[in-house]
Amino acid sequence: MPYAPLVPPAPWLTGDERARYARHLTLGDIGEMGQRRLKNARVLVVGAGGLGSAAILYLAAAGVGTIGVVDDDLVTLSNLQRQVIHATASLGRHKTDSAADAVAALNPLVTLVPHRERLTPATVLTVLADYDVVVDGSDSFATRYLVSDACVRLGLPDVWGSVLAFDGQASVWWPGIGPCLRCVFPAPPPAGAVASCEAAGVLGSVCAAVAAVQATETVKLLLGIGEPLVGRVLVVDALGQRTGEVTAARNPDCPVCRPGAPFLGPLTEEGGVAGACTDRGGAPAVTPADVVAAGDAGGLLVDVREARERAVASIPGSVHVPMSALRAGWRPETGRKVVVYCATGIRSAEAARILAAEGHAVADLAGGLAAWADAGLAVGSGD
Ligand SMILES: [Zn+2]
Repeated sequence: MPYAPLVPPAPWLTGDERARYARHLTLGDIGEMGQRRLKNARVLVVGAGGLGSAAILYLAAAGVGTIGVVDDDLVTLSNLQRQVIHATASLGRHKTDSAADAVAALNPLVTLVPHRERLTPATVLTVLADYDVVVDGSDSFATRYLVSDACVRLGLPDVWGSVLAFDGQASVWWPGIGPCLRCVFPAPPPAGAVASCEAAGVLGSVCAAVAAVQATETVKLLLGIGEPLVGRVLVVDALGQRTGEVTAARNPDCPVCRPGAPFLGPLTEEGGVAGACTDRGGAPAVTPADVVAAGDAGGLLVDVREARERAVASIPGSVHVPMSALRAGWRPETGRKVVVYCATGIRSAEAARILAAEGHAVADLAGGLAAWADAGLAVGSGD
């Protein structure tokens, strides 16, 4: 379902602009009015790396009038395999400078605003507030959560993408309309639990594939055309050359975007908001080693994540009771001990609160599946 355009049209197009954007002007969904909106649009791209490079080039070529670029890095040789906005001659330069030159060469009608900095809890709201849409091409979990949380505060759509090896994902987090990042992935994984592109590698053209989706979604949002990737996560498997999508719903208890969520204080350095809590309602926390040592005597091991997460990996011997079922009234047999777990310990803390409040003997696996895997313990697949 289309939404209203995010920006009003600029007053006119020049003759040069009409010639440059001729292939847009003949598109029914863009046309002169759409092109005038693009001219007036302000898009912030976070990161001029693998995703940002391609997204910036396509947005600039499309005639987005103002493109902000956040990056504090210098161009290095290992960037050039995928960061196509930077040339060999730009080695050692600031990525914002290199990107600005590339954009000027491609389309001098576009204004590139460099933000040569790393977003922090202290700066993120000020930087983002000046834009209509944010494109997240960052390569760190901390920045992704910081950007998503800030977008919720500001009511901005966050066009999100992520790549690793031959795989990619993209979605549009749009506060008030669809889920935010934290509704779907409640907390960043613990440091080291997920490989980085630096460690695992990435095929450059997979970055381009995901960045092209991000650029397309951005244009759609700006013009109010098509069906945005809201409430859906597009999943790209380049080796199999298949794409799929996973439905992503708002979490009614999301600490950041739930209706009536209290103002949550300053964003934290980890990229999260203060208050994304692990209050277990008095239930004890247990470690993976505790669970192994207790064996069957430790209680029924309950996975409260969603089926799509469980399909990827789970703790062997655990049973599946998603949060929705628990909230709808699932309870263990009276007297049965239960250990709850999720991906990182945020949702399971809530599960522990619910069960402890009713007097059930419940413990929470601190750190969730990530801590389990970190401890070197076996992980199974699916049920
Ligand atoms: Zn949310």
